[in-house]
Amino acid sequence: MTVGKRYLMMKTMNKNTISGRTSAIMKKYDIRPSKRFGQNFLIDEGILRGIVAAADVTKEDMVLEIGPGTGSMTSLLCENAREVCAVEIDKKLIPALKDSLKEYDNLTIINEDILKTDISAVAEEKNSGKPLKVVANLPYYITTPIIMGLLESKAPIISLTVMVQKEVADRMISPPGKKTYGALSLAVQYYTEVKKVLDVPPSSFIPNPKVSSAVMNLTLRETPPVNVRDEGFMFDIIRASFNQRRKTLVNGLKNSGLSGCLAETTVSALEKMGLSPMVRGEQLSLNDFARLSDLILDSGSSGIP
Ligand code: SAM
Repeated sequence: MTVGKRYLMMKTMNKNTISGRTSAIMKKYDIRPSKRFGQNFLIDEGILRGIVAAADVTKEDMVLEIGPGTGSMTSLLCENAREVCAVEIDKKLIPALKDSLKEYDNLTIINEDILKTDISAVAEEKNSGKPLKVVANLPYYITTPIIMGLLESKAPIISLTVMVQKEVADRMISPPGKKTYGALSLAVQYYTEVKKVLDVPPSSFIPNPKVSSAVMNLTLRETPPVNVRDEGFMFDIIRASFNQRRKTLVNGLKNSGLSGCLAETTVSALEKMGLSPMVRGEQLSLNDFARLSDLILDSGSSGIP
């Protein structure tokens, strides 16, 4: 074996480094990263510390970690937070997590799908119902359903500090008129103040993902940035208009069968807003969608598609 190869091997097997710890846990518990569960384990200590710092975790906080994996970020969170609850879907990882993190008495590990977790109940049980901070290196295959689910659940959450694919990060912060603009942009910008914290290259994970990533910080707003009478209806309109991006907004809404969205109703609302009947959904700002939703409701035709 060459000196270079031996050095590399020693470096990866050194349990004092995050990558060494991860390799040792994977070996000990025979963990093979599962594509099905989007397992790309973070092995860059600087990035791990950057995520915990961006989440501004203190000894006052309860943190909900989604997908602890082999537990590298979990241990940092346990050291910095008052209470940590880690929800992991993969039952094969549970013994490794319980064993390697047994020194922390402020940690609860739940073997569950986060999409089915009742976060309000977790906050009630572990944090007297007070809001918690979500921190996660998210599984990329369900990033959008997780984020939309958390935002729409109205669960008591202060902030989400999450690693996502760069492409999803771009969608979160996208202004109108861009290809990246869509329902995720509008939901993130309506419910939160969003900022990018870090760019993360594929080499920071094992196995390396094919795409670059970014850490995003989303702080839940106390009051929304626009007034709208029926938030749920506005998001129904938003989803319907982006489901058929290539169509005009009028046709997209008409084809969606959404209650109250007759072509003439939408055309008349757009006229009142000074917009062309040929406009596409991707050209409307959050403010425009709020106004459109109110005008369609005002037209009183809801209930008859
Ligand atoms: N936090 C670890 C890290 O940074 O190394 C692992 C991150 S890995 C990208 C995503 C983790 O989420 C995996 O541990 C995976 O098993 C878990 N996961 C995937 N789908 C999940 C779901 N629906 N609910 C909870 N955890 C899930």
